[in-house]
Amino acid sequence: MNYYDQHLHTFLSFDSQEIFENYLLNNPAYFVATDHLDLHNPGNDFHDDIPDYDKLSQKLGELAANYPTTFLKGVEIGVVPGQEEQINDYLNQHPYDLKLLSIHQNGKFDYMDDVVLTKDKYNIAKMYFDQMAQVLDTFFDAQILTHFEYGLRRLDFTPQELEEHFEKELSLILKKVIQREMALEINAKSFGHYQNANLYRYVIPLYKSLGGKFFTLGSDAHQAADYQALFPEMAGLLKEFDINFLVAFQKNERFFTELP
Ligand SMILES: [Zn+2]
Ligand SMILES: [Zn+2]
Repeated sequence: MNYYDQHLHTFLSFDSQEIFENYLLNNPAYFVATDHLDLHNPGNDFHDDIPDYDKLSQKLGELAANYPTTFLKGVEIGVVPGQEEQINDYLNQHPYDLKLLSIHQNGKFDYMDDVVLTKDKYNIAKMYFDQMAQVLDTFFDAQILTHFEYGLRRLDFTPQELEEHFEKELSLILKKVIQREMALEINAKSFGHYQNANLYRYVIPLYKSLGGKFFTLGSDAHQAADYQALFPEMAGLLKEFDINFLVAFQKNERFFTELP
């Protein structure tokens, strides 16, 4: 098996209009969209954003009849403490092959909102990492921790500042990721648009030193032009740390693949 993109969005997400067919122009052997599940989402007027499962099932049924691709069902789950039961109830009724865990918001604001610029950056980062650690203790139904630096994207942190102020928090988070046998995602938006490759250069060896072995690449594409974006560059980053394989998740199975 070749590695395939394990983080991308379609029109089933509140913030994407893309259609499956445009992604499929790349002729992938496996294809999985991971649309947003974010309850009480400040990024969308506090709506409960839940990808339409019936529409997804119907669409994948149609596509499977017309493409040689193997289609999987995926979802990117944003979790705010207190929402776990509702999310678990939903996931129990709606099975997925691939589940990403993300921290996007705290019930009041999204960590990418302008409001974070009006607050102390260390307080915001502490709040964000504490939420991530808490959710890793209370929500178990995910295979990959996405974009660990999402909550820092508006705040301008250096790797030195992370090491100095948040090594304890990050070590705790990474230990929980390892305990749960989850993978750490290298995210193309972090790497490219937000220029945070150096934050990964700090976190990857920290994760490795604690025993972490599982890595994934995700484009986080919201349009087909960004499918598998920056995969060679992100693979190059992993090679800097002698990491030679990636992990793909399909339900309870894990597949190891070479770096692209
Ligand atoms: Zn996300
Ligand atoms: Zn995403």
